[in-house]
Amino acid sequence: AAKQGGKDRVVFYKEDMEKNNLEHVQMANKLQFGIENEEFTLFYQPQFRLNTGEIIGMEALVRWIHPIEGFIAPIDFIPLAEETGQIYSLERWIVKKALQQKQQWEKTGFGHIELSINLSGKTVASDVDFHQLEMLVTTFDVDYSKIIIEITETAIISNIELVIERLNRLKNKGFKIALDDFGTGYSSLTYLKKLPIDIIKLDKSFINLIPQNNIDTLIIKHILSLAHDLKYEVVAEGIETKEQLEYLKKYYCKSGQGYLLSKPLSHEETSDLLDRLF
Ligand code: C2E
Ligand code: MG
Ligand code: MG
Ligand code: MG
Repeated sequence: AAKQGGKDRVVFYKEDMEKNNLEHVQMANKLQFGIENEEFTLFYQPQFRLNTGEIIGMEALVRWIHPIEGFIAPIDFIPLAEETGQIYSLERWIVKKALQQKQQWEKTGFGHIELSINLSGKTVASDVDFHQLEMLVTTFDVDYSKIIIEITETAIISNIELVIERLNRLKNKGFKIALDDFGTGYSSLTYLKKLPIDIIKLDKSFINLIPQNNIDTLIIKHILSLAHDLKYEVVAEGIETKEQLEYLKKYYCKSGQGYLLSKPLSHEETSDLLDRLF
């Protein structure tokens, strides 16, 4: 009976995989159609100087508005796009849109606003796509010192020498580099010192721990202090409560973003906000 049960499980597993594969293929086709028909839009989440409350930057976050299914979250298509290679064309569209937006801000008096763009490690590591990205960048006349490329640690570690070289090339163009989701990987600050990184983004899973538990908050306090000593800028992600905000300010975390301060905003909401503020 045990053997029979085992056999049943194998069969079930196989069917499950085939179902998943089919779903994957259908989703990839949908995504392809979406890319070709520009079903995407960029939202912008404001980033704040925590002690003054002023807006210093915006993080571009992609949104897929499917004509029938409606909103599809990045977590439901970015990993798939990375798997299929569709991330390349998608990301070219994202970077172009973001740079157009930056150019617009510069023309309308918001040139001091920094722009953060998330870049997949796949794009950075691909010869052809990275080259295309560099070409795209040369067609825009914007202040690259106010553009931050966000990349995750796993993306760097999987191809470390190559990615370091590419990040240095971006830095030579003026871009700043941020390490996204810090605290979710194998993060060691001394190790990270080898990487050409200017900014560390403390992951929201870290920020969530404030102020529930003494040990966790102690760890955050020391990460902030070590990051300062190593001359990194630190951006806290996912600030949702006043306690978290106060704690981060108390331990000299200069900037942050999160639902407490502002959710990601549509293009129109972003323009309205900037018009109102500046
Ligand atoms: P991320 O780059 O770490 O972006 C932060 C995510 O946290 C965003 O989710 C944002 O909406 C969300 N968030 C911000 N504040 C809060 C908060 O206070 N509480 C909570 N619970 N969440 C908050 P989103 O937009 O769904 O994006 C998820 C991830 O998808 C991003 O994480 C990034 O890794 C990826 N992604 C989004 N846009 C792009 C893109 O244009 N290119 C690439 N390669 N990846 C992207
Ligand atoms: Mg990010
Ligand atoms: Mg992040
Ligand atoms: Mg994240």
